[in-house]
Amino acid sequence: MLQDKVALITGSTSGIGLGVANALAAQGCRIVLNGLGDAAEIERVRADLATRHGVDVRYDGADLMNPDAITALVDGAVAAFGGVDILVNNAGIQHTAPIEEFPAPTWDAIIALMLSAPFHLIRQIVPGMKDRNWGRIINISSVHGLVASIDKAAYVSAKHGLMGLTKVVALETARTGVTCNAINPGFVRTELIERQIQDRAANLGVSEAEAVEALLGEKQPSKQFVTVEQLGQLAVFLCSDAASQITGIPVPVDGGWTAQ
Ligand code: NAD
Repeated sequence: MLQDKVALITGSTSGIGLGVANALAAQGCRIVLNGLGDAAEIERVRADLATRHGVDVRYDGADLMNPDAITALVDGAVAAFGGVDILVNNAGIQHTAPIEEFPAPTWDAIIALMLSAPFHLIRQIVPGMKDRNWGRIINISSVHGLVASIDKAAYVSAKHGLMGLTKVVALETARTGVTCNAINPGFVRTELIERQIQDRAANLGVSEAEAVEALLGEKQPSKQFVTVEQLGQLAVFLCSDAASQITGIPVPVDGGWTAQ
């Protein structure tokens, strides 16, 4: 059903974004990868996705903190593939500090990447989706789009803001074949979390395994990490016909975090 659909996944050179790209490519989607990183490693990832799944995979290294680069990213995808059918807003960063010590430029960067970039992408991509009367927008929010934790002012604010954007876009597209939803993961063991594990181990003077145990024990009742494969399969489901009446909602995948 998703054969030949065009999926643009931001921040898909690693972690959750790559997991979603992999799952959509396995369904026959043509893929636009985006993200930062080592050029040779990214080319390896791009070529691997293309050969494993037999689909066209294009890479665009747009820095999503720059609105002009976002416009060029969308224009490039449309020129190469004719349009974007599936948009996954996933790129993100983290910074932890108490609010009185939170650097203002870091606040601006997190809001630009994790809230303004999805706005710019959706506003430029939704007209084509409406014209074709089919589209899927999936915003990778977080449990932190639903509840808060200390020391994450910018991240929690951006992720809550993204939930508001998800609901507005869902309402504005409700009478079309376009849906807009959010996925709200708990802890997933990616680069983004690896730094928090290392920091916690260093601050508490404990081993990495003990830091992981403490991190999960504090928040995630299942005491297991969510996997990128599980999130990829959920994205595939949200793109299916079975999900055509699911719009404007958060889908927590969090081992019970937000049930507490
Ligand atoms: P990750 O660090 O592996 O991936 C982040 C991606 O964003 C990378 O591809 C990176 O290159 C890209 N990126 C960073 N800055 C960018 C920029 N300026 N322009 C373009 N791309 C940029 O981390 P991840 O855990 O896979 O995170 C992906 C998303 O999932 C984020 O939005 C994150 O907030 C969210 N999330 C992660 C977790 C978790 O536990 N890992 C939990 C909930 C939500």
